[in-house]
Amino acid sequence: MPKPLSILQNIHHPLFDKYKVTVQVKRDDLLHHIISGNKWRKLKYNLRQIKEGVYQGALTFGGSYSNHIHAFAYACKLQKIPCIGVIRGEARYASNFTLAWARHWGMQCHFVDRKTYRRRFDTEFLTELSELYPNYFFIPEGGSNTLAIPGVAEIVTELNQQTNFDTLLTPVGSGGTLAGLISGDTVANSKQHRILGIAVLKQAAYLVDEIKCLLSPQGKRHNNWQLLTNFHRGGYGKFSPDDVKRILAFNQQTGVIFEPIYSGKMVLALLDLLAQGYFSVNERIVLLHTGGLQGLGGMIEQGKLKAEDWPILTKVDE
Ligand SMILES: *Cc1c(COP(=O)(O)O)cnc(C)c1O
Repeated sequence: MPKPLSILQNIHHPLFDKYKVTVQVKRDDLLHHIISGNKWRKLKYNLRQIKEGVYQGALTFGGSYSNHIHAFAYACKLQKIPCIGVIRGEARYASNFTLAWARHWGMQCHFVDRKTYRRRFDTEFLTELSELYPNYFFIPEGGSNTLAIPGVAEIVTELNQQTNFDTLLTPVGSGGTLAGLISGDTVANSKQHRILGIAVLKQAAYLVDEIKCLLSPQGKRHNNWQLLTNFHRGGYGKFSPDDVKRILAFNQQTGVIFEPIYSGKMVLALLDLLAQGYFSVNERIVLLHTGGLQGLGGMIEQGKLKAEDWPILTKVDE
């Protein structure tokens, strides 16, 4: 069996003692210094497919501060794959924290307005793009396609080697990661774990169907997963000063850095669920650290976070 690619770390917090649970963190944020976390897992088999095929390059979609765009640009540079990012927003974003790096690594940015970006799943728009960029391999926003599933599923295989656990928590954006974990839990062993997805965007219930759709080609059943949609804290990229304070205190307490866009919302959900008595005594919980710390760069640039609270980022020298 292959060796786990990321470590599993025990963390401690007074609330864990109070509610008699144990918590471990699967440190996928440490998988790679740039292509961190779930984006690495989701891209693994996509990149293999591109390398094995006869494509001109690869094209994907994302917001102007997207972790996926950032990871994808670097992965393509490593694999020498020409790459295009269809970016929601105006060309003036080209030198922001995320896109400055992506362009530095060779990504060509194709900017579209919000209205056009909304058509990113429409056949008509995709046809237009494939006429513009013939023979490019298309990967949807967030990297969440069926090829992402087996890469993420490997996290559960690793966890089964590393520990015994009851419940696995992950933040959820487009749902690919949650789908991959569910898929991995059905392959790896007969006992199903409870898998909880914490949606980071508002009105995320529609994702349940997207997740089922990503899982349907495999036709496997898993009855012990849930998407929790009440922990988005106002919507994607939104949080209160108090949320940030609680995440920073948790980081200080545990020595692991969680950011407030994805993994930090999972942390806040964990703390809230504990306080609600959601978990059983002796429950063994694993948090998936999905990485994404580059996203802090954009938040700092937009004045939504203070640089001195997050002293871990390097900007492109242009
Ligand atoms: C993209 C991302 C997610 C969301 O993953 P999905 O597969 O889109 O649900 C979670 N955490 C981080 C850090 C991410 O960058």
